[in-house]
Amino acid sequence: NRDTARSMALAEQAKRVADEFNFGPDAVNKAVNEFIREMDEGLGKEGTELSQIPTYVTAVPNGTEKGLYMAVDLGGTNFRVCSIQLHGNTTFSLTQSKVAIPKELMVAKTSKELFSFLAKQIENFLKTHHEDHYYGHIRRRDTGGATKEQEIFNLGFTFSFPVNQIGINKGLLMRWTKGFDIADAVGKDVCALLQTEIDALGLPVRVAALVNDTVGTLMARSYTSPGKTGTLLGAIFGTGTNGAYVEKLDKVTKLTQSKDSGDYDKSTGEMIVNTEWGSFDNSLRTLPNTPYDIELDEKSVNPGIQMFEKRVSGMFLGEILRLAIVGLLKDPTFPLFRDENSAQNDIHSTTQIHDSSPIWKQWGIDTSFLSICAGDNSPGYRMVRQTLDKDYGITAVSAEDAEAVRAIAAAIGRRAARLAAVAIAGIVINTGRLDAPGTATTENKSGIDPPRGDADLAEDDVIDVGVDGSLVEFYPSFEDHIREALREIEGIGEKGEKRIRIGIAKDGSGVGAALIALVAGRVS
Ligand code: ADP
Repeated sequence: NRDTARSMALAEQAKRVADEFNFGPDAVNKAVNEFIREMDEGLGKEGTELSQIPTYVTAVPNGTEKGLYMAVDLGGTNFRVCSIQLHGNTTFSLTQSKVAIPKELMVAKTSKELFSFLAKQIENFLKTHHEDHYYGHIRRRDTGGATKEQEIFNLGFTFSFPVNQIGINKGLLMRWTKGFDIADAVGKDVCALLQTEIDALGLPVRVAALVNDTVGTLMARSYTSPGKTGTLLGAIFGTGTNGAYVEKLDKVTKLTQSKDSGDYDKSTGEMIVNTEWGSFDNSLRTLPNTPYDIELDEKSVNPGIQMFEKRVSGMFLGEILRLAIVGLLKDPTFPLFRDENSAQNDIHSTTQIHDSSPIWKQWGIDTSFLSICAGDNSPGYRMVRQTLDKDYGITAVSAEDAEAVRAIAAAIGRRAARLAAVAIAGIVINTGRLDAPGTATTENKSGIDPPRGDADLAEDDVIDVGVDGSLVEFYPSFEDHIREALREIEGIGEKGEKRIRIGIAKDGSGVGAALIALVAGRVS
């Protein structure tokens, strides 16, 4: 029977492609060792694969922090302003507003145009949401009264562009990305640029901290996370991927042994380090490298850079799948997306894929499609077929076709999660968190699933990891795949894996920035 033969050939070939994405226990362990090596190297000098940037934040919160703070976030397209009331019992309330950044300001002649716009949004926010505060301040100012210290909002500034941070509220813009281009801002302290415009409007706001989003995630998680043990690591798996963790200050030698290292609180003996792990192993000593990874990198705007990110994050996983599928379709004998009558024809003669299908264009498949594949357990994979039809112009897909696509997508998602486990494990192992105290072992007498790093554990034994980003939030079983790999890693194992608690840090950017503004206020 031709149909059965075709189905079997398809399943077999799909498995062959899926297997190209295998990243087995040995490879994982090798990568962990390399991650640890690069961590240590980056703490000692500049220009390494893991940048290991000192953030000048020297403590994580424990949930008892209190007060009213502001946070602003200049990402790619929007500017967000919020105020956060920390209640001091691990909870908070958040008020937020968001405006699109006018395109012409992204390429303005002077940075003043952009930053005065930002300050204006802060003023509008205060007038709308903190009337009493704002008008009280203005009245006193206009009658010659001095601003009271307790009236000043400390503000955390999340600025998602590459900066060379030289103090908790000081960072020099290295270059613009994401379509921004304002020449005179490059090399300037972005906190000072914002503060100048805030002052010009006479607002009671102090730019207290410059915030990286991973550090915000770590801080937010540490505030809201149950239990007394502070969070070790904050990680993002969204458009990109990155992580920040708590390091012993005396290991951050490139800071502590530098003459002009800026001011920071040395009393905690710790500092949060922004790893910039998207560039882990750019030289491909240990990262897996399929023909699809190679093609993706060659056609990217930054070949050879962010090699870890290109295998892990939302911006890229859909494209890896697309390249794998298109590669298969180029082989006219390959049975995918061909009904039995057209099986011998070349791809353009099949009626199933529309010429305008995004599958033929770079970035044509969104990573959310991988989540749909992983989550569809319906008979005949209805959701996968519907999505291929509706979003990707591939009609009349058979259940076997859907199954084949699913197998390849699942392999790409699983590999991404196992790579994520490499970074998490590297940090858990290298910080020595498993050594201390690590006494208790929970026995699973119930016969049901073992605890996923949680309530049954003595609080001292928990190693807390805060995560954020659509991939980790929405890809089904991303965490399960991470955990499976963690158990395979020497130095973590079954026992260690149970002690690692992974939780989403909700509203991380606003709350995290507020918390950094708070600790910054304590220092200055
Ligand atoms: P950002 O990282 O830009 O702040 P997100 O965390 O929402 O924003 O990440 C956006 C990325 O996540 C995009 O690359 C997108 O393709 C991917 N994404 C969006 N939805 C999903 C989903 N359901 N499953 C997996 N990835 C997703």
